[in-house]
Amino acid sequence: MRIEGISVYQVDLPLHEGSYKWSGGKSVEVFDSTIVQIETDTGVVGFGEVCPLGPFYLPAYGSGARAGIGELAPHLLGEDPTQLVRLNRCMDHHLKGHPYVKSALDIACWDILGQVTGQPVCTLLGGRYGKDFVLYRAISQESPEAMAAKVEGYRAEGYRRFQLKVGGDPETDIARIRSVSEVLQQGDVLIADANTGWLMHEAARVVRAVKDVDVYIEQPCPSYEECLTIRRRTDHPFVLDEVIDGIEPLLKGYADGAMDVVNIKISKFGGLTRARQARDLCVSLGIAMTIEDSWGGDITTAAIAHLAHSTPTEMLFTATDFNSYVTVSTAEGAPQRTGGRLAASKEPGLGVAPKREILGEPVARWVAR
Ligand code: MG
Repeated sequence: MRIEGISVYQVDLPLHEGSYKWSGGKSVEVFDSTIVQIETDTGVVGFGEVCPLGPFYLPAYGSGARAGIGELAPHLLGEDPTQLVRLNRCMDHHLKGHPYVKSALDIACWDILGQVTGQPVCTLLGGRYGKDFVLYRAISQESPEAMAAKVEGYRAEGYRRFQLKVGGDPETDIARIRSVSEVLQQGDVLIADANTGWLMHEAARVVRAVKDVDVYIEQPCPSYEECLTIRRRTDHPFVLDEVIDGIEPLLKGYADGAMDVVNIKISKFGGLTRARQARDLCVSLGIAMTIEDSWGGDITTAAIAHLAHSTPTEMLFTATDFNSYVTVSTAEGAPQRTGGRLAASKEPGLGVAPKREILGEPVARWVAR
């Protein structure tokens, strides 16, 4: 089997809430998503998506994804899309780094492998655990009262895990955590995600001030070393996200006892192949996981669902359904949340059929000669 064509589409994804705000005054109103279509000589077609959280979150941006795919695409024509580890080595050979660029291409090849073998990607990633899995709801940064009201609203919709966007002024963040914790009920889980936004002295103040609150602290500071310092000063359960972007930092974090949970974003690791490697390692090491991506629509949500649903239930801390945050649906068949839970499709591959009228014309296309 060989890759005969690669097409790239660009889709804007506006938000139901109008905007998404997090640490450092960062916010996005319309996400810039890139969808990749890979065609094969057998007629099987696969799809993948990559959608950075704006250009100022991780070292990734929308037009960068498309430029990088343009760098790789000519080298992938003629390659076998079902030999995924080999294909990833091929991408690494032709483009050093830039994992997010490779993510949509890798996901599209998993979609192809699933269709060729007649299996959902979830099965190929290890097997399905349970009927469905648990989601969290990200609560965009607002006033403490507004965030508490949002949590109550999303709680009424069925969510039981809430990730507050903090990482701002420490006193306001303390009030955010306190006001939200007051509206939670037994069994709810609260995560305060600073997204690298605090200096160490600010993080130290916050964790001390909320010592009596049952809250997870996620990525308080920019660097691994700063986070480790705060980790050693607090007994809150601790999540690392932005600094865990490959196997080496994951192993270092494990050796240092730097976290209880890691956040595995598919594009941060470079696609499902590499995210699965990290996921399986975390299962072996006893590190629970949030499984998600930087952002995305229906195709990203489908990919997250397959990786999350194939993760042993007790190891999956939580996951995300980005397609319920955005106003544009790019594909039929994508998983839709029921309450605060989601399930991967049982159809072969990712189980999605992109909507041609939404994708429009490709912004770039390569065809084997
Ligand atoms: Mg995070």
